[in-house]
Amino acid sequence: MPESVYGIYRIPIERVNGNSYLVVRGDEVIVVDTGIPGNAERIIGEVGALGPGRRISAIILTHYHLDHSGSAADLRAATGAKVYVHEADAPFVSGERRPPLPPSVPKETLDAYSQMRPVRPDVVLRDGDVVFGFRVIHVPGHTPGSIALHDGRALFAGDNVNVRDGSIVGSPAPYDWDSSMAKESLGRLLSLEFDVLLPGHGPPVIGDAAAKARSALKVRTLGLRALTLSAPAAARESRSAPNVIRIIRYYKAQSQPLPVSNERGGDI
Ligand SMILES: [Zn+2]
Ligand SMILES: [Zn+2]
Repeated sequence: MPESVYGIYRIPIERVNGNSYLVVRGDEVIVVDTGIPGNAERIIGEVGALGPGRRISAIILTHYHLDHSGSAADLRAATGAKVYVHEADAPFVSGERRPPLPPSVPKETLDAYSQMRPVRPDVVLRDGDVVFGFRVIHVPGHTPGSIALHDGRALFAGDNVNVRDGSIVGSPAPYDWDSSMAKESLGRLLSLEFDVLLPGHGPPVIGDAAAKARSALKVRTLGLRALTLSAPAAARESRSAPNVIRIIRYYKAQSQPLPVSNERGGDI
């Protein structure tokens, strides 16, 4: 049985110190990242261990890299789950385009991509979309279509934030498609509030995670105003006081009523 926090279960991926996560919504299970190829059966086994009647309905990929999307094709074939990926990374997951890996990537890694089983995404994501109660935040840099998922309490950071040897670190520079863009995206990401950080690699940070990440990474954070929030997404932004005030201002300016329902659902 994997570890869990806020109903999010972590499946550590061996060899790459990576992660696949399970988000439970009643009988539905959403898989965030699938690990390297060869992990589909294991993920299905972990879902089975959560109890009878659970089914994997969606696979969300934080980016196209093989250590995150590598088991997506097998998992989809075995479960019929829909695959979600940002539009800018979709052509690399589907095999329509060659991955734009930087020259600093080792040759063995490049070779591994030629063996990768492509999968056609069912749902193409954009910044501000809300899926299963999580807002999609487009954070280009590590890859063109890297995303994070945020619900006000938890942040799935993809490879933009990792935990290595007990320290919170940024994206791995040799694998970054555009390092300066990755830094800018990191600043945007760390302007959010979240209690739990679910990194692309390494164990989760639980409790006051946003403050811990800001202090460890010392990046210049951008204010919430710099975020490209859609109105419904803004309402789901962190409930900390300054953000709520901004959200109320936003809705007043738009002359729209504040939505009263919280669509987060489940126990997350
Ligand atoms: Zn990556
Ligand atoms: Zn990775």
